[in-house]
Amino acid sequence: MGQPLPGNVRLPSAPPGRKRSDSVGFAIVGLGGYALNQMMPRFEQAERAHIAAIVSGNPEKLRRVGDAYGVAEDARYSYEAFEKIASDDRIDAVYIVLPTGLHAEWAIRAFAAGKHVLCEKPMALSSADCERMIAASRRADRKLMIAYRSHFEPYNLEAMKLMQQKAAGEIRLVRTEQSYRMGPTSPSENWRTSRALAGGGPLEDFGIYGLQSALYLTGEMPESISATTFRPAGDARFAEIFAHVSSQWRFPSGAVAQLVTSYDSAGTNFAHVRGTLGALIMDPATSYSGQKMRLEGQNTRDLSPGDPAVQFAGQLNNFTDAVRDGATIRTPGEMGLRDLRLIEAIYASAEAGRTVRLAPDGRRRS
Ligand code: NDP
Repeated sequence: MGQPLPGNVRLPSAPPGRKRSDSVGFAIVGLGGYALNQMMPRFEQAERAHIAAIVSGNPEKLRRVGDAYGVAEDARYSYEAFEKIASDDRIDAVYIVLPTGLHAEWAIRAFAAGKHVLCEKPMALSSADCERMIAASRRADRKLMIAYRSHFEPYNLEAMKLMQQKAAGEIRLVRTEQSYRMGPTSPSENWRTSRALAGGGPLEDFGIYGLQSALYLTGEMPESISATTFRPAGDARFAEIFAHVSSQWRFPSGAVAQLVTSYDSAGTNFAHVRGTLGALIMDPATSYSGQKMRLEGQNTRDLSPGDPAVQFAGQLNNFTDAVRDGATIRTPGEMGLRDLRLIEAIYASAEAGRTVRLAPDGRRRS
C-alpha cells in the first residue's frame, strides 16, 4: 500500500556519483521514514553499495525519489511488478524497509528472485517466519542480514569490548529502557499500532534495542524470563498492541536483567550495567547519534570512542563484504531468529503469569 512522502524528507539535490565496478546494487523496498531519512542518504558513505532500484506503492514517490537518487525509470518498481527484479541484473540485493509484519513475505520473494537480502529489524513477527526466511536464504544460496545497526556503532562496540574485558568486574545487573510517548493514533492510521504489522508493539520496535544490549553486553543467553504487559482500555493507540512490556531475565552466571519498553511514557533510551567493581552507563544507548557513555568505578571516566553516524555505512559495508567476498555477517538471520524466540518467551511468560525457562538457543523448555 503506497504511503505519502513523509513531510520532513530532504531528498538529495544531485544524484549520487558512480561507485566502483564491484559495488552491490540494492533495490530499496518501501520508501518510508527510515529508508528516506536515514538509510538512503547513507549509501553515499558506503564503500561499495549503491541504490539501483526502488520499490513502492506510491507512483508519485517513485518518480520524485527516483529522480533525486538517479534511479533509472525502468528500475522503479511497484509491488505488483516486484517479481520482475529477477531478470534485472542491476539489482544484486534487496533492502526490506517495510512494516515488520511484511518482512518475511518480501524477503522470501526476494530470495525467489535470486537476490541477497538485508532486512530491517525486527526480522519478523514470529520465530516460525524467521525460520522460513533462513530456509529460503539457504535454498537460494543468497545472504541474509538483519539491520541491527548498533553492531557497527562505536559506542556499542566499545561497550561490548569493555564488558568482555570485565571493566566493571563481574556483571550482576543490567537495566535497559526504550520508551517514547506516541501521539493519538489508531491501527488504521499507523502500522506501528496494528497487531498484524507490528506484533505486540514497543518491544518489537524499540525495546528490541534493550533486548539486544542485554545479550551483547553480558555475552550470555538468559536461562529464564518472567514478564508482564499492560494495555490500557479505551485508548485507540493500544486497541491491538501493548502500551508497556517489562521483563526480568536471569542468566546462567547469576546476573539478572530488567528490560522495560513503552509507547506511553516520556522518551528515554538507556542501558546500564552494574558489576562487582563498577558500572557502565549508556544514555542514550542506541540512538542514531548523540550517544553518551560513562564507566564508573576505580577510574571513572566519560568515553567517546567515535562518531555514531558511521553505523549506517558500516552495516552496508559488512553486507557488501559478505556478498562480494564471503565475509562473515555480524548480524545474520540466526540472530534475528534468536531474538524472536526471546520476544515470544516474554509474551508467553506475561500471558501465563509465570516464569519461562529457556534452552541456550532461546527455545522454551516449559
Ligand atoms: P514507515 O511507516 O515510515 O514506512 C514504511 C513504508 O512501508 C511505507 O512508507 C510504505 O512505503 C511501505 N508499506 C507497504 N505496505 C504498508 C502498509 N500496509 N502500511 C504502511 N506502510 C506500508 O516505517 P519506518 O520506515 O519507520 O519502518 C520501516 C521498517 O524499518 C520497520 O521494520 C522498522 O522496524 C524499521 N526501522 C528501523 C530503524 C532502525 O533504526 N534500524 C528505525 C526505524 C524503523 P511505500 O509508500 O513506498 O509503498
